[in-house]
Amino acid sequence: MTDFQGLKALVTGGASGIGRATAELLAARGAEVAVLDLDPSGVDKPLRAYAADVTDDTAVRDAVAAAAADLGGLDVLVNNAGIGAQGTVEDNDDAQWHTVLDVNVLGIVRTTRAALPHLRLSTAAAIVNTCSIAATAGLPQRALYSASKGAVLSLTLAMAADHVREGVRVNCVNPGTADTPWIARLLDAAPDPAAERAALEARQPTGRLVSADEVAGAIAYLASPLSGATTGTALAVDGGMQGLRLRPV
Ligand code: NAD
Repeated sequence: MTDFQGLKALVTGGASGIGRATAELLAARGAEVAVLDLDPSGVDKPLRAYAADVTDDTAVRDAVAAAAADLGGLDVLVNNAGIGAQGTVEDNDDAQWHTVLDVNVLGIVRTTRAALPHLRLSTAAAIVNTCSIAATAGLPQRALYSASKGAVLSLTLAMAADHVREGVRVNCVNPGTADTPWIARLLDAAPDPAAERAALEARQPTGRLVSADEVAGAIAYLASPLSGATTGTALAVDGGMQGLRLRPV
């Protein structure tokens, strides 16, 4: 793993789960890291914390500007903040669609728009979006969430094309089910959490959930100069689900 000495990174949704693991990994490798989150109160030094909702364009602009000023620039943007939704198209009303797309898709648009002027000044500019296997897997009971992540995948490719000649690489990671507070909340709400967890583990070829640190490792690779010739790709971190062409039941 390359070191991030001298690089400045901003991680959205960096107070929990995959975002937190990513922020801590980048900092451990020498980056100066800022976290943008709805609730960054639990974020400890050396990470810098900025409270903002990615659905609030003014708050995002202010937080990105403050982070770039405090860090002295921006080389890496990790667009990771996201929320879930369960059900078929009959289960989610328009308001739920607007809410999830606002966070998962427009959230990326807003932070990227605010960060690009800073990233263009970097000689090691990279954007990594946290997408999901849901973008392409055809998961049952995940219509809205899958559509939002399908949009993240398309957006990643479009952004990669738009900014490649400006020296800004754009890639995404597609995690399978990752062991984060989000999944812990889902399991806690299930009638039989242990059985639900076993079912989630069984659908991944490795027979276990992905760890937040494993997703963070993939994000760090795509954020680092080690992947300097890679842009417009989606890296699966899914225990083999996508690569082995296994469909969940
Ligand atoms: P998490 O709930 O543990 O962490 C998400 C973080 O995002 C939280 O700190 C939360 O406060 C922040 N956040 C949520 N909405 C926000 C908003 N509007 N503005 C600013 N911050 C906001 O979740 P996680 O499991 O670490 O998921 C992180 C990302 O990974 C999401 O984009 C999710 O879709 C994706 N993902 C997760 C899994 C999984 O199984 N955990 C699988 C595939 C993809």
